[in-house]
Amino acid sequence: MKSLISGVCLTIFMASLIMAFELPTQIETLSAIGSTNALPDPIQRAFSIDNFEPIPIPGPNDWLAVHHENGQTYDEFILSVHNNPDETRNFIYLQPIGQFRRGQSPSLDLLKEYAQAYFSMKVEILPALDTRKLDLTIRLNPYSQNRQILTGDILHKLKRNLPANAFCVLAITMEDLYPNPRWNFVFGLASLQDRVGVFSFARYDPVFYGESRSSQYRELLLRRSAKVLVHEIAHMFSLAHCIYFKCVMNGSNHLQESDSRPLSLCPVCLRKLQSSIGFEVATRYHRLKQFYSNVGFIFEQDWVTRRLKKIEDSNYGQD
Ligand SMILES: [Zn+2]
Ligand SMILES: [Zn+2]
Repeated sequence: MKSLISGVCLTIFMASLIMAFELPTQIETLSAIGSTNALPDPIQRAFSIDNFEPIPIPGPNDWLAVHHENGQTYDEFILSVHNNPDETRNFIYLQPIGQFRRGQSPSLDLLKEYAQAYFSMKVEILPALDTRKLDLTIRLNPYSQNRQILTGDILHKLKRNLPANAFCVLAITMEDLYPNPRWNFVFGLASLQDRVGVFSFARYDPVFYGESRSSQYRELLLRRSAKVLVHEIAHMFSLAHCIYFKCVMNGSNHLQESDSRPLSLCPVCLRKLQSSIGFEVATRYHRLKQFYSNVGFIFEQDWVTRRLKKIEDSNYGQD
C-alpha cells in the first residue's frame, strides 16, 4: 500500500496479512516521548502522560491486527529527514473538489478554523474546483454503481498548481474516490514527497450506506471530517502512525475504529508536531478549547480543560 505513492496513509478495504501486535511497555512508551528532564517545568508537563489512555489491544479487524507498524519515537522523528514549514512555505491550503452542499457536508469554514487552531498555522481555502471542468477519470463502481473519481488525476493537478507559499495542499471532496481500477474505493491518498493529498468525506455520511441521518448527524460529520483532516495533515509533517496511546495518529481500518480514535494528539505525536511548528502548547489548547466550545464538542472541550489544568497548574496532581 505504501509503495503506491510515498507517504501514503489510507484506510482501505483489502486483504491483509494478520500479524500480532504487542502493546508497548510503559518504559517503551516513556522512551517514545523522549527525555524532557532538561526542559522547563511547564513544557515537561505539556508532554506528560496524564490525561492520555494507552493504546488498546486491537480487535481482529483493527488496523494494528492487520498492518505491521513499528511506531516512530520522538527521537526517531527528529533524526529523520522530514517536512518542516519554513519562512517561505508556511500555508496549509484546503482545495475543495466538487460541491459541499449545505446540510449534507461539513462546513469548510469550520474545517479551516479547526486546522488553524490545531496546527497554529495559516490555513486558506482555495476556490472550489468544478469536477465537470477538470479532466478527471470518473467511473461507476462496478459493485455499488456509485460515482467515483480517480485519485491520481487529482493529485497530479494539485502538484502542478502547488502555491509557492504552500507547506501542503489537501484536496477535500464529498465525491467517492478510487486509486486504480482494481480497487473498490479509497478514503484518500497522499504524496508526502509532493506535499499533496486528496481525501473524501463521502463515506462519513450514514446516507452513503443507506442509513438515515440522526439528529446528531451534523456534529458526527464534522467530527469525522475534522479528524481525518488533522490526521492527514499531520502525516504531511512526516508524523507516522502512533502505536503508543489512543491518539488521532492511530491508524484505522474501518469507520468504527476511526470513530473510537480521539481528536487529540498524544504526548509523543504532540512533541513531534510542536518541534516542527514551534507553537506554545497551552496556547494551542486554549484555541482548541474555544473551537470545541463553539461547535458543541463537549467531550473534547472537557478533555482540553482537564489537560490545560494539568499543564498550567504546577500544583495539580501533586501530593
Ligand atoms: Zn494515517
Ligand atoms: Zn500519538
